[in-house]
Amino acid sequence: MISHVLPTYNRAALSFERGEGSWAIATDGTRYLDLGSGIAVNVLGHANPALVDALTAQAGRIWHVSNLYQIPEQERLASLLVDRTFADTVFFTNSGTEAAELAIKMVRKYWDHAGDPDRIEILTFEGAFHGRSTGAIAASGAEKMVKGFGPLMPGFRHLPWGDIDALEAAVTDRTAAVMIEPVQGEGGIRPLPDQDLRRIREICDRTGTLLVLDEVQCGMGRTGRLFAHEYAGITPDIMMVAKGIGGGFPVGAVLATEAAAAGMVAGTHGSTYGGNPLACAVGARVMDIVADEAFLAEVNRKGALFRQKLEGLIAAHPGVFEGVRGQGLMLGLKCRVSPADLVKACYAQHILTVPAGDNTLRLLPPLNIEDAEISEAVERLDRAASSLA
Ligand SMILES: *Cc1c(COP(=O)(O)O)cnc(C)c1O
Repeated sequence: MISHVLPTYNRAALSFERGEGSWAIATDGTRYLDLGSGIAVNVLGHANPALVDALTAQAGRIWHVSNLYQIPEQERLASLLVDRTFADTVFFTNSGTEAAELAIKMVRKYWDHAGDPDRIEILTFEGAFHGRSTGAIAASGAEKMVKGFGPLMPGFRHLPWGDIDALEAAVTDRTAAVMIEPVQGEGGIRPLPDQDLRRIREICDRTGTLLVLDEVQCGMGRTGRLFAHEYAGITPDIMMVAKGIGGGFPVGAVLATEAAAAGMVAGTHGSTYGGNPLACAVGARVMDIVADEAFLAEVNRKGALFRQKLEGLIAAHPGVFEGVRGQGLMLGLKCRVSPADLVKACYAQHILTVPAGDNTLRLLPPLNIEDAEISEAVERLDRAASSLA
């Protein structure tokens, strides 16, 4: 008989009843060191007092009014994002998938509005993850996501990951946009070198193609900059954000330049829940904390500390680990064993990790993880690796 919850996940036999900072406490009282953050979501850890305060203060005022009215909390969060990024305008969603969906619509509308409606092709990359809507799975093109769900939405062309020559050759007068994660998350913590991102920007500029960055996973301070593309010194035309921006509350957003958003006039897009007062009150508090330069400098310092300790771990277990990659606190351990086995061995040591593509184990701790917790994490990873040998 089918489970009451649609069985689309292979869930671990673990459930949590509360959390404190970097720790998730299971129903049997066991404390797990959370190096997954609910897949890069809980950027400020569990039950962060500042976020609990933002949420409960707003909960006592008003939760939801719909986008038929002005929403001051939404305007505040939009201003915080516009002030701190390339963007001139923001649309709020409830998830990364919905942000991808709008990004695709915005690209198509841009060219229609520009009088070039046949310019619809979006170039994407192997290993990409943009969400689970019919549009987002078509954008990714990965067999495991699209199989059985056809016919797929047309208009995407998939290129080898990081192959900028292939990208250059693929751009035609039908190319509408390039959509890429500056650091692939689900694909296995694969950062695109800064010079490659700069070259993509240059190709887009030369051909008038829009550049859409998916920073759903690598954005919001995860890499040690507010957004990962800042390292390359370039800006996109459109950017998707979600995961970290709500610190655990469902919030997503599409950021765009005024030019890229030119076709998105009244009536062209909407959302009942998107940008509601609760979501935006929490998102604004997350921005207040994470967009601070001193906070981001700490993410970088902790990322370097974690990485240095992981290098020691890899040296001690050459049969288990091949190397470490990533930036800031978005780290991937490339494995010689199955990452799924390693995740299980980590449960036994009471640490939460997340598997990814390309035989990689993801480490995505809260951005405010303490130094002592990083040491503790590496000791437990060491024991987990030993248990596999
Ligand atoms: C998680 C993710 C998405 C989808 O976000 P959801 O909130 O799960 O819909 C899109 N893009 C990237 C890069 C992601 O990591």
